[in-house]
Amino acid sequence: MEIKITKTTNPKTKPTENLGFGKYFSDHMFIMDYEKGKGWHDARIVPFADISMSPAATVFHYGAEVFEGLKAYRCADGSVQLFRPIENATRMNNSADRIRLPQIPVDDTIQAIKQLVEIDKDWVPSGAGESLYIRPFLFGSDAQLGLHEIKQARFMIICSPSGSYYAEGINPVKIMIEDEDVRAVRGGTGYAKCGGNYAASNRAGEKAEKLGFTQVLWLDGVERKYIEEVGAMNVMMKINGEVVTPMLTGSILPGVTRKSIIELLKSKGYKVTERRISVEEIINALESGELEEFWGCGTAAVVSPVGELYYEGKTYVINDNKIGETTQMLYDTLTGIQWGRIKDEFGWTVNLGK
Ligand SMILES: *Cc1c(COP(=O)(O)O)cnc(C)c1O
Repeated sequence: MEIKITKTTNPKTKPTENLGFGKYFSDHMFIMDYEKGKGWHDARIVPFADISMSPAATVFHYGAEVFEGLKAYRCADGSVQLFRPIENATRMNNSADRIRLPQIPVDDTIQAIKQLVEIDKDWVPSGAGESLYIRPFLFGSDAQLGLHEIKQARFMIICSPSGSYYAEGINPVKIMIEDEDVRAVRGGTGYAKCGGNYAASNRAGEKAEKLGFTQVLWLDGVERKYIEEVGAMNVMMKINGEVVTPMLTGSILPGVTRKSIIELLKSKGYKVTERRISVEEIINALESGELEEFWGCGTAAVVSPVGELYYEGKTYVINDNKIGETTQMLYDTLTGIQWGRIKDEFGWTVNLGK
């Protein structure tokens, strides 16, 4: 794929502190267009700017949009690396397939990410825990209101220098188990990283926030009996020395962090089981003291220990509200590999040089 490059003549001043998440954007962005019959064309890297679209574009009316999220990390030797980008490029195609957006050859997505990060390499911050968050997204752009097959689409990538998720230390979060709204159902779009899933989460998220919780833990959409995942993280727990995590039933997002943790734990000889886990089982394990650790996992936080679970009017404390041994080990190992402090024995990282 040939990418036409137009560099900015007006580079922005880079923010140096309080990066936060997704507030600032690097100097360039990637764009490529699709038209049925013609395929993907006009791959280009241009200065970051607003885009112009028809108000009738299908993305605004029927939510035809999928996205990805990954990071570029600055290693101690000054080089920059990516973590399992092929996983993200592949998942984006699986998501696109679900809502009938055109797919992109994995190699082209990887090339676009690499070339964009190369051009904006100076935007990869070097402070502790900081990274350049990379957001690829793909949406239907044809200007036609009737429900129809998507004939025009656009693929874009933007980058945002982001601060450490744990600027104030790794503090366990409080999670509310949601028993009214559901996020996804089997046969629906839960496994796809598509915008609509997050819109469906807003109401419960707001309720949780009002009650003083950080995030919602979703239950399955059919029986509201089995736990699924939290906002943008998969969940895992250690019960009686064994790590268990909800199996991928179609309504759960298959996280790259989840997959990496399972592979990592297995390589270290841990027993890991993917199966259905009922709320009842969790409450019983909490009451008997067998639930030792509970954590969320995703690209943004890597791992996030859960200190309190709230369900049907009752709050349960996990591991005295402290980060557990396995959670800490996973955090140290994964961040160690991502920032190049620990040798990557899995071949997960892609180093882009200095
Ligand atoms: C992105 C996301 C995750 C985590 O996926 P990673 O690839 O590990 O970042 C988990 N659940 C949901 C709903 C997500 O959107």
